[in-house]
Amino acid sequence: MCSNSGGCESLQRIVPDEDKTKKCVSCKQLSEFVLRKVNGYCRPCYLEACHHKFRSTVGKTKLMKPGDRVLVWQNSSLGAAAMRHLLEVLEKENETALKKKLQFEFKFALVEGYDGTIFNDFKIAERWRRISSDAAEPPQRNSTLKLFNESLVSQKAVIEFARKHNFSKVFTCDTGSDLAHIMLTSISLGRGGQLPDWTGVSLERDGVVLLRPLREFTEEELDRYLKLYSIEVPTQKRSPSSIQRLSQDFVDGLQADFPSTVPTIWRTADKIAADSKSPLSVCDHCGCFNPTDVVGAMQALEISAELSTTLKLEKQIPNRCHACRQISID
Ligand SMILES: [Zn+2]
Ligand SMILES: [Zn+2]
Repeated sequence: MCSNSGGCESLQRIVPDEDKTKKCVSCKQLSEFVLRKVNGYCRPCYLEACHHKFRSTVGKTKLMKPGDRVLVWQNSSLGAAAMRHLLEVLEKENETALKKKLQFEFKFALVEGYDGTIFNDFKIAERWRRISSDAAEPPQRNSTLKLFNESLVSQKAVIEFARKHNFSKVFTCDTGSDLAHIMLTSISLGRGGQLPDWTGVSLERDGVVLLRPLREFTEEELDRYLKLYSIEVPTQKRSPSSIQRLSQDFVDGLQADFPSTVPTIWRTADKIAADSKSPLSVCDHCGCFNPTDVVGAMQALEISAELSTTLKLEKQIPNRCHACRQISID
C-alpha cells in the first residue's frame, strides 16, 4: 500500500468545477484566471501568494543567516527570469519594510552557454558575472551522459566561483518541474541513492550551501507569474534525444492532466535518503556519497561485467560512483 499521503491518492484526473474556479481561492472575489485546473485567482492574491511561497521556502530551510552573501546562479530558463523578478520585488519590499525581510545580500552570476539577448532590458545587469568552467572533460558520445556531465561541471564551476568570492550560499533556479525531470533522470542513470543531492532543497559542497528556492513552483505557476508582470517568458530549449528529454516529456505529459504530478514526484524524492549506517565514501567527480561495502546493484553489475564480453564497466577509478564511471568510459 502506498504510504505517500501527499501523493498517489491525490493523483487523479481533475474535473474542473466551474462554480469554484469562478472565485479566487483567497479573497472569494471574481477570479481572473485558473491554475492547476481547479484554483481560481485574482491578480493581487496570486502575486502575493507567489511572493509568500518564495519567502517561506527560503525561510523553512532555516539555513539563511543575516548578512549571508548569496550568489544567484542564472541561465536562460523560465525559473531564472522569475527568480530575478522575485528577488527584485522582495528587495523593494525590504527598503520600505520596518523589519527587514531579506537579511542577505544577493548577486547574480551566469554560467557559460547563456544567451544574452533575452536579458537586454534587465535593470541590474551590472551585477552579472559570467562564470566559465575550465574543467577539461572529454566530450561524451552519449547525449544523456553528456547533458548530465555538463550540468555537473557547471555546478562545480559555480560552487568554486562562490567559494573563491566568499559567497556562503548559491540560489539555483530549478523549478519543481525541473526537479521532477531530474529525479526520473537520476534514477535512470543509477543515481537513485543520490536523490537528496539532486532534488533536495539544499546541498552542501566545499563549505558552500546550494539552495533551490523555486522548488515549490511549477512551470505553469511561474509562467503565469511572468505574464502578469508582462515579462517575456523565455522559450524553453528542447534537449536532444536523451533520457532527460524522455523524462521531461513524460512528466509534462502527465502534469497536463494530473496537476499534482510534479509536487508528488519531488515530495517522493524528499523521502529517499542514503543509509547513514553504511560506510560511505564521496565520489571525487560528483561529490555525492558513494556506498563502499553495500552489496547491491553495483556489485551485481560488476559480477555481470566480469562474465560478459559486451558489458563495459570501468574498475580503475575506485573513488567514483557507478554513474560517474559511466561518464568516464563513454
Ligand atoms: Zn483574490
Ligand atoms: Zn559520482
